[in-house]
Amino acid sequence: MRKYLRNDDKITVCAECLQASCWQGEFMCDEARYADITEKTVGELREISMEHPDYWKADLRMKNITE
Ligand SMILES: [Zn+2]
Repeated sequence: MRKYLRNDDKITVCAECLQASCWQGEFMCDEARYADITEKTVGELREISMEHPDYWKADLRMKNITE
């Protein structure tokens, strides 16, 4: 397993606010109850720059991709 993010890593995020922290229940947006989840790449999320990359790492940790 690696310790860093790659731009082509796919992160599971809330489909409404595009934040992994929302889907993980750390911070829930107004739509969180009804929102779908979707996948975005780290590159796409970096462009949006909505939240700290630690949340993306947490997603990859759950998928056993990063430490
Ligand atoms: Zn959300």
